[in-house]
Amino acid sequence: DVTVGVLALQGAFSEHIQLLRQATDTLNSRNVKWNFIEVRTPAELAQCDALIVPGGESTTISLVAARSGMLEPLREFVKVLRKPTWGTCAGLILLAESANRTKKGGQDLIGGLDVRVNRNHFGRQVESFQANLQLPFLGASLDKDANEPYRCVFIRAPVVEKILPHKLGIQTEEASADDRVVAPAKQPVDELAKEELKAEVEVMAKLSTHSPALQNNQEHHHAGAEDIIAVRQGNVFGTSFHPELTADPRIHVWWLEEILKAVEKRQQFELADRSV
Ligand code: GLN
Repeated sequence: DVTVGVLALQGAFSEHIQLLRQATDTLNSRNVKWNFIEVRTPAELAQCDALIVPGGESTTISLVAARSGMLEPLREFVKVLRKPTWGTCAGLILLAESANRTKKGGQDLIGGLDVRVNRNHFGRQVESFQANLQLPFLGASLDKDANEPYRCVFIRAPVVEKILPHKLGIQTEEASADDRVVAPAKQPVDELAKEELKAEVEVMAKLSTHSPALQNNQEHHHAGAEDIIAVRQGNVFGTSFHPELTADPRIHVWWLEEILKAVEKRQQFELADRSV
């Protein structure tokens, strides 16, 4: 059994659950029993092997998480246990170690990705748009449809503005005027978690402003730039866009396969650990 949770405090969580179910139809590994659950409490989170933090409003999600005693358990899940976690849009913001404040203020982040995000990057006039993009990482597990572009939906989307110096697993207390300080994580639970924390940030997809794939986004104010719209750091993955708002399950399929790899790695580790 593998249990995948979707944080269900606010935002597009039911859409994620629907696509996860759809994704299991096309998975290579068929002999796995998947449970997909909505997560609102620390007890529900504790059942999960992996977690999705959906799109929505990051300030709201963070406030509700803080109020319901979820912020610390979430940080532990992502930053100490290093279980597979995927954030989409607002979820990416929450998984960043640093984010800019908007006029409405900031929020406490979960952290787990050594990146700084710029919220609402595409500005007011083009808050939302779609782009058909090639996502190179889909090629690895899905040769069949890998060449078909993926329709990426951006809604007041953040981008990864900067990859930060590696600081996961290192106890720091530094603060700056516009960053939320993410509470230093506890020590890794074991050697495998320690290894996982050493992973570097990989850029998984970029959006170039002049891409003909861009639709209704003529007024993009960062013309000429290439924006990072997907990153991963070991088990933690983030996308600026909302795969849960399309009917295309390919990223969910890819991610479920990644979860299986991580779960197997942990099982191997625990077996080896017991036999010493
Ligand atoms: N702009 C939103 C935020 O800052 C994210 C938007 C989204 O998830 N669609 O939380």
